[in-house]
Amino acid sequence: MSFSTLGLSDQLMQAVHASGYTVPTEIQSRAIPIALEGKDLIGRAQTGTGKTAAFVLPMLQHLSSTPRKSNTRALILTPTRELAQQVEDSIAGFGRFLHITSLSVYGGVNMSNQIKRLSRGVDIIIATPGRLLDHLKRKTADLSAVEILVLDEADRMLDMGFIYDVRTIISRVPAKRQTMLFSATISAEIKKLAATIQKSPELIEVGEQRAPAEGITQHFYSVPQNKKINLLLHILEAKSLDSVLVFSRTKHGADAIARRLAHKGISSAAIHSNRSQSQRQRALDGFKQRHHKVLVATDIAARGIDVEGISHVINFDVPAYAEDYVHRVGRTGRADATGDAITFVSPAEQMHMKKIERFISKRFMLERFPGFDYSQDPVENSPRRDESSHSRSSHQSRSHSQSGNDARGDRDFQQRTEQEGKSKYRKAKKRIPIHTYRRGYGNEYRNLSNNVPEVPKKRVHSHAPTDAQGSDWGTLADDSKDFEKGFLKKLFNRDR
Ligand code: AMP
Repeated sequence: MSFSTLGLSDQLMQAVHASGYTVPTEIQSRAIPIALEGKDLIGRAQTGTGKTAAFVLPMLQHLSSTPRKSNTRALILTPTRELAQQVEDSIAGFGRFLHITSLSVYGGVNMSNQIKRLSRGVDIIIATPGRLLDHLKRKTADLSAVEILVLDEADRMLDMGFIYDVRTIISRVPAKRQTMLFSATISAEIKKLAATIQKSPELIEVGEQRAPAEGITQHFYSVPQNKKINLLLHILEAKSLDSVLVFSRTKHGADAIARRLAHKGISSAAIHSNRSQSQRQRALDGFKQRHHKVLVATDIAARGIDVEGISHVINFDVPAYAEDYVHRVGRTGRADATGDAITFVSPAEQMHMKKIERFISKRFMLERFPGFDYSQDPVENSPRRDESSHSRSSHQSRSHSQSGNDARGDRDFQQRTEQEGKSKYRKAKKRIPIHTYRRGYGNEYRNLSNNVPEVPKKRVHSHAPTDAQGSDWGTLADDSKDFEKGFLKKLFNRDR
């Protein structure tokens, strides 16, 4: 099949060719004709299957072939700012021969520029839910003329606890619209959402549900936690890898890994929620332009990372959520290319590996990495000097290593990460009593929208740390400093 049979306009065909696309991917060839008819659809497609073009192309065709309005006519909701930006880039690329304006709207950056742009009017808004809700409350965004609504990576949005934000936003969009929902998994929750926001949607399923894209080889290597950094260095050197995405479960862990690599002369950058948007962008650009061999990322920060030619994804920690494994691994092997996914499994993490196996219905061998000296001292000869963390525990680890005890230094590296996770967990528990959270938040949202049928239990779960090992508490709050602020405001009726 070729793009020319899909019914796209000449300008869009030119843009498709200019983008270097010759053959549509399966989700594109199946979804585009349905979307062009204006029908609602559910696309079950993994990340990396080309789903962005599957909704962007028909959206642009509709907007360019119908009369312009001063108000926004299409809204795309994404779970993360990175994904929002990626979709905006895609719209800019495919819309290069059209006069369609678009704006991505996400938290972590100043609102005033967004307000200025929105006041001038944009055809398409690509937004993360938290920030868009802020704009709606300030009346700086208007969705009353939206004709097309897209929920991208809906499963992820639900996982992150955005369901009530999403429902509130949708209640501000006219009922007469086209709604396209894309998700890597179709859970009961997604079906429930779809049933309330769509009309007789066509279901398009691509590939095996849950399985990482074909063409990606997956290996699980058994390694004690305190030798993981050694193994990472060994793999980077032994395989001469030059475009590697390393996942860490915590942002502190991500920073520590990046510092270790830097100390060994391996150029790398870390990307996570404590980094400003411009720092994240710089890190990502440096990685794309191959200035950095390695990008170390947390799960949320990595959503939407679309870098061609990532040859290896290395999971330094086994993700606690099996879904995250699929998303992480999907960063390599994009658009039918091949890639390798490597996961380091400490004895304590074997249960998470089992969850992944159950989730993707596949068994893996837990191997030892060939050629890696498991008997070697787990210690890196890295002076603590480069550990510039501000936490008390890092000061402790610095003094340990300065006293020459490198073995203890490396254990500190692990313990510190765990410790920071634990203290965050404790703080979080103190700050937000779970029952208050649940009751207060639910009531607040009932006031905001009559359309909200139930209390957001999911959000409570997804923001509660999963274990004391430094779960993603930090990174989950991540995408929305504004989300957290807004939520606390709602809860206690004051800004904290
Ligand atoms: P997506 O799943 O939309 O994030 O796309 C994943 C990657 O595949 C992106 O780098 C796209 O540019 C690329 N891609 C999508 N569709 C095609 C296509 N038909 N031909 C070649 N590359 C594509």
